[in-house]
Amino acid sequence: MDFVSLGLLMRLRHLAMELSKLPPHPHLDVSLEQYATEGDFAARWIAEIVQRGDLDERTRVVDLGAGNGILGIGCHLAGAVSTLLVEKDQRCQHDYEGVEWLIGDVQEWSGGDVDLIIMNPPWGAQVAMADRPFLEAAFNSEAGVVYLLHSAKATHVLPLAESMGWEGELVLGGAFRLPPQYEHHQSREGTTEVSIWRFIRN
Ligand code: SAH
Repeated sequence: MDFVSLGLLMRLRHLAMELSKLPPHPHLDVSLEQYATEGDFAARWIAEIVQRGDLDERTRVVDLGAGNGILGIGCHLAGAVSTLLVEKDQRCQHDYEGVEWLIGDVQEWSGGDVDLIIMNPPWGAQVAMADRPFLEAAFNSEAGVVYLLHSAKATHVLPLAESMGWEGELVLGGAFRLPPQYEHHQSREGTTEVSIWRFIRN
């Protein structure tokens, strides 16, 4: 391994460790579909965003359906100039220097002052179309790039994005561990496959 990639690997490791220390998502409300991202996976995702040139020290980031803020805080630690965490469930909120919270419904967010949206919203598996206001908020916003984590089974995401003037590509996949209250629809040993999309304007 050369020096540069060793440095990258160490930064990634450090990011994963920092993110794993965040207060865990309270996981209390099944109707809000709180599937939390784990530190290692969040760090891999954010490294991918940086490598693609979508995140640097000028980037204003908004995390929609932020939970404990793991994705937005990851972008903040990777150098984002500002980070807003939008989350409806006040129990998720905690103090973290350098990031701001908007505690409220995703529909209350203005859609402005943003370059990059990162989100792992509700998937619409428990409550049909729960992901819809998130997709609409993102694709109607002023952002230039949108990263979305969704169930790998979701087939509606790309057509919806395209109908709103965005094009998308799959950039990463993985398995998510499900919290115990979702065990009734587990696919394999309490995990479910997820996909990460990157969308840019057409
Ligand atoms: N992004 C976090 C949390 C994912 S779970 C992570 O990846 O770990 C999805 C989050 O969306 C939950 O915390 C839930 O409370 C929040 N949420 C659900 N509906 C919402 C809405 N209408 N407006 C804002 N947040 C909402």
